[in-house]
Amino acid sequence: MDVIGNVKHQTIKPPEEEELPTSPGHLIFDADFESGNLGKVEYCGNNEYDLYIRVDTCNQKYRLWFHYSVTNAKVGQTCIFHIVNFSKGRSLYREGMGPVVRSTSRVNWTRLSQSQCYYWKGESGGYILSFTFKFDVDERYEFAYCFPYDYARMQSKIQSLPSSLVDRRVLAHTLQKRNIDLLTIGSGERHIVVMARVHPGESPASFIMDGFLDFITSEECNIAKYLRDQVTFKIIPMLNPDGVALGNYRCSLMGFDLNRHWRDTNPWAQPGLHAVKAFLIGLEKEHPVDFCFDIHAHSLATGAFMYGNVVSEDQQSEQQAFPKIFSAFAEDFSLSKTNFNKDAVKSGTARRVLRGLFPKSYTLEVSFYNYQKDLRSVPYTQKAYCELGENLARAIAEYYRKYPTL
Ligand SMILES: [Zn+2]
Repeated sequence: MDVIGNVKHQTIKPPEEEELPTSPGHLIFDADFESGNLGKVEYCGNNEYDLYIRVDTCNQKYRLWFHYSVTNAKVGQTCIFHIVNFSKGRSLYREGMGPVVRSTSRVNWTRLSQSQCYYWKGESGGYILSFTFKFDVDERYEFAYCFPYDYARMQSKIQSLPSSLVDRRVLAHTLQKRNIDLLTIGSGERHIVVMARVHPGESPASFIMDGFLDFITSEECNIAKYLRDQVTFKIIPMLNPDGVALGNYRCSLMGFDLNRHWRDTNPWAQPGLHAVKAFLIGLEKEHPVDFCFDIHAHSLATGAFMYGNVVSEDQQSEQQAFPKIFSAFAEDFSLSKTNFNKDAVKSGTARRVLRGLFPKSYTLEVSFYNYQKDLRSVPYTQKAYCELGENLARAIAEYYRKYPTL
């Protein structure tokens, strides 16, 4: 990886030790890897560091996703990191969310506890996330905004699926020659499109996709078999792989928010999206498509919910039937947060543009942080995101049991 603007194996020393050879305690920061994002580090004394998120490639507007590694800490060294340049002030960090961490010997990501984190308004008016961290072993540590799920991981996920059940095709290549994969699973009369990661920083969407793929390709599960008999799934697991690999939050390599470009895709500027749109138009000509789900993550909301389109009154109850069933299967899915809108700001989104093709086109949103259960806040884990994907599949099966003729 070589993303211009990312910190590359940079040693940060106190100014008075600048001339000394590097020794333990001089932290070495790096974000030169897939999905890495860290633009600048400044030492501010007393083991405190100001960290700057790198803007999305070719777009100055968005700074939220960060992912970097630290090595060469002294055992027992406690540091304070300040993430100083988020592009928006409102954040789930206000609600107790913490960044995630893992290290060489502790490979599973965990969230930092609320007591280690502090989200506050700096003197310049921007919001700052400060967190303390004690390095207890001499090894490599990684920190990120939320659980990373990068392009390489999705590629190996796809490889691992049973080839007897999954037809894999590459729909197009992105500008950086990554795959836009299309998976066809099942052979039923019904057709459903599921896609994710048009917004690269929204990594929970990939865990949902991961859980969904595992469920519908399960060889033992009867519900999965039923689904494969009833439905032909057309799945595009990663719509913006360049953005994911580059560590962008919102945009493609060329700085486009692809989810505002469905209306006017361009073959040279957005080759992946252009190919996906052409494919979906062709698909609809061959078969009616019952549902289209586009999976995202939300930086302010809690829980999971859907956005749907406003439709004529006689179609309304049909439009609401699926979210109702989903809410019965997933305790984190909120029917009351689900809404049907026609905001101008959402006019280039998949849901809005594709509704002409697929009337039941939904955006599935999930919180980067938590959901409410019995008035308690339950932080999402990677597993809980995967389970939401499984529950999406279960709800689809239930929908067809309940409404075999819709
Ligand atoms: Zn999104």
